[in-house]
Amino acid sequence: MTGTSPRASGTRTQPAEPDWAAATEETVEHLRAMLRMNTVNPPGNEIVVARYLEQQLRAEGIETRVFESAPGRGAVVARLRGDGTRKPVILMAHMDVVGVEQDSWSVDPFAGIVKDGYVYGRGAIDDKGMLAANLETMLLLKRTLVDRGVVLARDVVFVANSDEEAGGDWGMGWLVGNHPELLEAEFAVNEGGRTRVVGGVPLYLAIQNTEKVPHVVEMHVTGSGGHASVPLLDNPLWRLGRALAAIGAHREPLELRPTTREFFGQLARVSPDATQREAMADLVSTDERRSARGADVLAAIPVFDALLRNGVSAAIVSGGIRSNVIPTSAVATLNVRTLPGAALEDVIARLRAAVDDDQVDFRVVERGEDAPPSDFESAMFRAIAEATRAVDPAMAVVPYMSTGATDSARLRQLGIQAFGILPFPMDQNDEDRMHGHDERVPVASLGFGVRVIFGAMALVSRYSS
Ligand SMILES: [Zn+2]
Repeated sequence: MTGTSPRASGTRTQPAEPDWAAATEETVEHLRAMLRMNTVNPPGNEIVVARYLEQQLRAEGIETRVFESAPGRGAVVARLRGDGTRKPVILMAHMDVVGVEQDSWSVDPFAGIVKDGYVYGRGAIDDKGMLAANLETMLLLKRTLVDRGVVLARDVVFVANSDEEAGGDWGMGWLVGNHPELLEAEFAVNEGGRTRVVGGVPLYLAIQNTEKVPHVVEMHVTGSGGHASVPLLDNPLWRLGRALAAIGAHREPLELRPTTREFFGQLARVSPDATQREAMADLVSTDERRSARGADVLAAIPVFDALLRNGVSAAIVSGGIRSNVIPTSAVATLNVRTLPGAALEDVIARLRAAVDDDQVDFRVVERGEDAPPSDFESAMFRAIAEATRAVDPAMAVVPYMSTGATDSARLRQLGIQAFGILPFPMDQNDEDRMHGHDERVPVASLGFGVRVIFGAMALVSRYSS
């Protein structure tokens, strides 16, 4: 971490290392305040959180704008100005949360309760934890760098959005449509990664730099139909059933992408499970047979298998109207997730061959848009990795392809290199509470996250980056 601005004046004070205990405490208080504001979407009502953020940022002297995309909905865009040597970096999070089944919670999900070293509440992980850490990062950048005379090489732009959990029309979509000029940036840091603790040890921080592309494909089958008392061989349900069975048994070919190769290559070194370590090392070897053997072992773990090939899931089956009638048609809805860069048409051609029945008609009803992967050798990725290792030198930092789709795809289509993180070390159990009951984030992990985000932003905004 070198190279403060050449314009930093000698008469001013030097940049100071933040007081991390105080910063963690402050982050917890901001998180608790925002958890108490109910932003379950729908209706969202994120404007309450937007006003809170505006107040905190402005109080610190940070240029802040609030946009009301619709009554009760809004976006916050705050900016710490650099000298424009480099293009801006966006630090984003969303203010809305998913609903709760309150009876299944052991605490009030909207009270911002701290218990046993955790902050509890809907949104603690997704995404108010990151929102609070991003806010704290802006405050610390202002206090410890800007106010001390450090000139940033690029703008750091804080973006808080609405409506992420319901498609983003009143959030990211609105901002892209109405204020694209505010989103001009080289990099963006968003939600979407993970920091995994296994057996009590923080193992790796995964930075999402690419994602699978979602599509919806239907299989249509027709037949002559008739009274169920006279069985027919061309009953469309038989035909659809055979087609579904064939697709269920079909496996898309193994395809390693640079991101997955790096991901498994690094995990092969740190995974606590010897069988998995060996399988991962096999998978990334240049020997094709060894690679296939590794993939077969890892196939037992669905979340790993999904990273290695295009995925097809049967989602809906419909057909038939009464128990004594043979229907004339039946439809199955398939959810198809292609690897970035893979062609949906190629997948459908293989499914058609597997089904081997020209009476089964495949129709694409929703087609996802592919986006180029963000570069895991870029200054932003390296800054996050370096900031992470500064806090925990033992932790691996890996690029990661998410199987789910995120707002980052929209940014990548705009030419912004977007990276998804969740820089709060958590075990699987805590992470699974996202969108579930008793969502919570460890206080210590929040502190870790603030150090990583602040460190990454400071590094990427300096001349040396
Ligand atoms: Zn989220």
